[in-house]
Amino acid sequence: MTATRVLVLNSGSSSLKYQLLDMRDASRLALGLVERIGEQTSRLKHTVAGSGETREQDGPIADHDAALKAVAGELARDGLGLDSPDLLAIGHRVVHGGMFFTEPTVVDDGVITEIERLIPVAPLHNPANLTGIRTARALRPDLPQVAVFDTAFHTTMPESAARYAIDPRLADRYRVRRYGFHGTSHAYVSRETARLLGKDPSEVNVIVLHLGNGASASAVERGRCVDTSMGLTPLEGLVMGTRSGDLDPAVIFHLARVGGMSMDEIDTLLNKRSGLFGLCGDNDMREIRRRIDEGDQEAALAFDIYIHRLKKYIGAYFAVLGKVDAIAFTAGVGENAAPVRQAAIAGLEGLGAAVDPELNSVRGDGARLISPGSARVAVAVVPTDEELEIATQTYALVGKSN
Ligand code: AMP
Repeated sequence: MTATRVLVLNSGSSSLKYQLLDMRDASRLALGLVERIGEQTSRLKHTVAGSGETREQDGPIADHDAALKAVAGELARDGLGLDSPDLLAIGHRVVHGGMFFTEPTVVDDGVITEIERLIPVAPLHNPANLTGIRTARALRPDLPQVAVFDTAFHTTMPESAARYAIDPRLADRYRVRRYGFHGTSHAYVSRETARLLGKDPSEVNVIVLHLGNGASASAVERGRCVDTSMGLTPLEGLVMGTRSGDLDPAVIFHLARVGGMSMDEIDTLLNKRSGLFGLCGDNDMREIRRRIDEGDQEAALAFDIYIHRLKKYIGAYFAVLGKVDAIAFTAGVGENAAPVRQAAIAGLEGLGAAVDPELNSVRGDGARLISPGSARVAVAVVPTDEELEIATQTYALVGKSN
């Protein structure tokens, strides 16, 4: 029998998200999350996809090794254990692949060393991702482990988009360039948008707006990324839940010299205490809309700043692409917040983009168009599915040789 199942692992510093998929029909068999690893109050939440049955385990889970073993135990209860001959491979989300990893890659010792070498540019994410890889390898050393990189989709960016305007020798020495993130989502959503239009990805240009708690935009030309809003780190670009996005770099010198803040304090300020949260004290778009409906001025200004930045990127990517076939909204805000979509596209009729208020307000699960039939540029809501994309890429790489 041919193995067709792929386990997808997304390992964070204190969490482990997982999904088990059967790639014959891309169906989910089980999914879940281990939270607060290393604390007394860890929790494992496991859902069996078919029945929808959910089981929870509370109590200390010391480390990622214990977390993965607990997950394996839950899967085994449903006859889906990690020792099953049906399991083909494990696909790992890895945030930073630098310039080296342009494609999903089967993990070996050399790959681990290279991901380690990228820790200075991804100090929060890559160590956690590596922990997941090492743990899974120890548990099933015989099974192919595939690393799927958030940055890979953006490695097609031309140098004109990827380089900052600083001395290239200095930049190369310290690996300073624009890498971009959320690439798995941008790849999936741009392809699904083409499918929604009944076209091949190579026939369309798409602006993808991944608006979650983290947020990024990308310009995708005939299936290849040519620009994206995040840079060396996920801090650049759009206004996000707690990140400032773009600002004059001199703000940092100013806060240090005049405000007396340390580099670590400024780092925390810009990554964790800025964006929507910094502007109005809330980073959840639902709460911000509720406050706006009640007449809250602070929330209204935060929303306006968020939309203004988004519009600037949409405009920029019209210019980068020359011709745009579709604008796709995705992730928590993009998929759910109709007012954000309405406001972001408002006034873009001259560029051929418009939103039909009725289509925009209908809630739905799948990919759908929200632009009037007459619009030159299709506007779409396309739910992202990073786990499916990781599983698909893993299966494409390993399934062939199976
Ligand atoms: P993500 O990072 O993709 O999981 O997105 C999380 C964010 O999506 C939350 O912080 C909210 O701001 C936003 N969000 C989730 N559900 C809704 C909703 N129904 N309406 C508006 N915003 C939402």
